[in-house]
Amino acid sequence: DDRISRIASTIRVIPDFPKPGVMFQDITTMLLDPKAFKDTIDLFVERYKGKDISVVAGVEARGFIFGPPIALAIGAKFVPMRKPGKLPGEVISEEYSLEYGTDKMEMHVGAVEAGERAIVIDDLIATGGTLCAAIKLLERVGVQVVECACLIELPELKGRERLCDNPLFVLIKSA
Ligand code: 5GP
Repeated sequence: DDRISRIASTIRVIPDFPKPGVMFQDITTMLLDPKAFKDTIDLFVERYKGKDISVVAGVEARGFIFGPPIALAIGAKFVPMRKPGKLPGEVISEEYSLEYGTDKMEMHVGAVEAGERAIVIDDLIATGGTLCAAIKLLERVGVQVVECACLIELPELKGRERLCDNPLFVLIKSA
């Protein structure tokens, strides 16, 4: 699909952000290009439309950019998966490990029902810890995670392996 190489060309790489040695994949430059942004959303919508998916779960923060337009286009609800202390209602939470220390992800109780079919969306998978926490939160309340979807995968970090057999769909693999 020639849309994918065009999308890839709009992503900017910023060396040494947020710390030395990291090559940060900056998707904000893609958002400045309406055709690339639309093509990105369309590619996900084409994959998930008509698949009986009722939940699009978006991971804070950049999953909030891609999740809502996909949810609207496929007729699903959008569920934000947030950093701790941000959601005002009752939450369930899942801790996950980072390179240094741990972090937590939260989801509102009652946002989803057992038996629903979900996709989880984020901009990028690195080690897979973030998506793994999102999958666990949804599975704990009986939701079936059909697939995780990201714009970019960093395959060297082997995040895919951490998803424990949950399918992962990505548009771009980056070194
Ligand atoms: P993981 O948990 O897979 O190690 O890290 C993925 C999370 O970190 C995602 O939520 C993603 O937004 C963020 N992240 C890590 N590295 C990058 C990067 O190079 N670019 C962007 N845009 N996000 C990153």
